[in-house]
Amino acid sequence: MATTLDKPQAAPAQPEGTIVAGLPMPRFERIQVEPISGACGAEISGVDLRQPLDDETLAEVMKAFEHFLVIVFRDQDLTVDQHKAFSDLFGERMELPQAPTYGEHSDMQEVRREAHEPSNVVPSFEYFHTDSPFLAQPPKCIVMRALEVPRYGGDTAFSNGYLVYESLSDGLKTLLDGLEVVYSGKDIWARNEKLPPEKRLRLRESHGFGEHELENVHPAVRVHPATGRKALYATTAYFRHFVGWNEADSWALLNHLQSLAQYLHFQCRVKWKKDTVIVWDNRFLLHRGVHDFTMERRHLCRTTVRGERPLGPNSARV
Ligand code: MN
Repeated sequence: MATTLDKPQAAPAQPEGTIVAGLPMPRFERIQVEPISGACGAEISGVDLRQPLDDETLAEVMKAFEHFLVIVFRDQDLTVDQHKAFSDLFGERMELPQAPTYGEHSDMQEVRREAHEPSNVVPSFEYFHTDSPFLAQPPKCIVMRALEVPRYGGDTAFSNGYLVYESLSDGLKTLLDGLEVVYSGKDIWARNEKLPPEKRLRLRESHGFGEHELENVHPAVRVHPATGRKALYATTAYFRHFVGWNEADSWALLNHLQSLAQYLHFQCRVKWKKDTVIVWDNRFLLHRGVHDFTMERRHLCRTTVRGERPLGPNSARV
């Protein structure tokens, strides 16, 4: 009796191309793109950010940003105006209420630790987080340039929120899909005041934000508005609780999710050099500075680009 085993079987279809950052490696014609790890991040060369980018090159830079979530350009000696012009390709520059501004530029921020200063990072920033999730429209991305960096250490590490979410069991995905998070930045200044002076964060002295703008509810799972791909959007910084959950229950679940983001196979790590420019996605990628340096100065300047109001699995797609 003939069975299917008698017939020659077609070989199973092979996926085309290499999988990196969870999806097939895109093709690039105008720029050189070297993935940093299998999880996220790419170094881009063949681009001078001091010059306006032609349409095809710009489209490839944006494709690399969306795919790898963090893109790195080396040796970009930009003026402030060139930095802002490059940032504007990603969207509208925004101010932040808490981050210190860069000199007189209220639409830029600086990250600075002097050589004599201790590593005084508050614990919630020692974990992977996204920036300013307490705002109604948290940043889409950060465009950061290194002015002065330690010889060794002071890297920034990233963890791919899509891959963390995709690794969850179906039961936990379903639970998270229905959850929302209360994020609040209302007590940033009051908390800082209570710390001894040498432990305080360097915060912006004044800002034009209203109190009601500093607390918002966002989905625990964030959905890309164009692709529908889902990523973990519950992280420690400014986290208060899940809606309908008390703090103890909320932190038990959040700590589990945090522990997953620490897996090295979701991560990449970028070493800064003077004039390195990094653009990282603040919607679908988590980040953290690595404070493994002492007695050396670290000074970076950045712009912040406004994002959409986060969409959840149950939000109406635009
Ligand atoms: Mn941060």
